Amino acid sequence: MNNFEKYSTDFVQSVGNKEGAVSPVITSSASFAYGTAEIGEGIFDGSVKKPLYSRMGNPTTAKLESILAKMDGGIGAVATSSGMGATTLAVMSIVSAGDEIISIGGLFGGTYALFHETLSRFGVSTSFFDVDELDNIKNAITENTKIIFLESVGNPNMRLPDIPAIAKIANDAEVVLMVDNTITPMSIQPLKLGADIVVYSTTKVISGNASALGGCAVFRAINDADDKFKTSRYADIHKFIKGAGAMALIPNAKKRAMRDFGMSANAHASYQTMLGLETLPLRMDRIISSVEIIAKELDAKGLMINHPSLTSHPHHARYKSDFSQGCGTLLTIDMGTKERAFEFLNKTKLATLTANIGDSRTLALHMASTIYRDFDTDTRKFLGVTDGLIRISIGLENPQDIINDFLEAAK
Ligand SMILES: *Cc1c(COP(=O)(O)O)cnc(C)c1O
Repeated sequence: MNNFEKYSTDFVQSVGNKEGAVSPVITSSASFAYGTAEIGEGIFDGSVKKPLYSRMGNPTTAKLESILAKMDGGIGAVATSSGMGATTLAVMSIVSAGDEIISIGGLFGGTYALFHETLSRFGVSTSFFDVDELDNIKNAITENTKIIFLESVGNPNMRLPDIPAIAKIANDAEVVLMVDNTITPMSIQPLKLGADIVVYSTTKVISGNASALGGCAVFRAINDADDKFKTSRYADIHKFIKGAGAMALIPNAKKRAMRDFGMSANAHASYQTMLGLETLPLRMDRIISSVEIIAKELDAKGLMINHPSLTSHPHHARYKSDFSQGCGTLLTIDMGTKERAFEFLNKTKLATLTANIGDSRTLALHMASTIYRDFDTDTRKFLGVTDGLIRISIGLENPQDIINDFLEAAK
């Protein structure tokens, strides 16, 4: 049984309630009353499990968190206001001034800017590598390296990492491996492949219809015996391990990032995200099959298509072995020049022009003039952004309709 079949049952069952309101209940209250001073004290010291204040956790959001934690085999999850919120939460809960991050892959523009521009202002430096630079990655690890960050699929360069090999490097060096799995929920299960933390933008395919901005970080359990988080590299986390044991990464994220940065999810967005989750397996299954059909046909018709399902792609073998349940909804078309790309975008009747991905509708965007417009030539080159590059996120439409429209637009 593939993961999509497995989660078809799991998601609809866990989103709905078996008693009372079937649809998840939206608790939109910002604050919660404690009843007595003693209960208030208990809530703050953790001995009473009741909501405290919605910046630190909300019942509707907690339901979403439990489903996403289960999806990835994590011990818990923290939902956030956006995908960037999730990455910021997970990273800021681990790094301090003087620390180093190793970033591998794609890289999503916001994440690149966070590491390259923003964190460097606070004394946290990041070195960037392509997915296949395994030796350079290994050699870049120092005693100050706190995080190896990886995207499950390069967006928009469509390069696929060897996740088990990178996890081995991280685990041998006892450095945290954090994977942005936004593009491949269910298809790739990073914690099972050796990662420690998974981050998502749920805005994308998890919600699936542009109705809710959101994100989530999923954390693994701390092991009873040896654990990289118990080494001196992660000394700041030890007090949470003492207090919360296996769950330590949850209070660590809440108290060292969520409390002070406030990237909290809101109940309405969490509700809409759960509605998206109900149909996520069906949508993923459909889109992944469409992407392969469309990539093959457009490639055969002479368009410059980048997708690992094509035999000409350098990671085609890895796609077959490690990404047997697809690599998400994206493919790219290189039209050669900005002018040709703009012509395509203005001629397509079917694609919606927007910066989003993972929607029920097919979406398209010219990369160099939008998300990557502030990046210099070398950075664009590293990220695989050429002048004519259009990123496409395939939707639920009939694949032949998409092919016909794109061939017409490319004429
Ligand atoms: C969109 C995206 C993000 C950021 O998510 P937001 O919800 O827009 O903040 C992070 N990583 C990847 C891979 C994305 O596609």
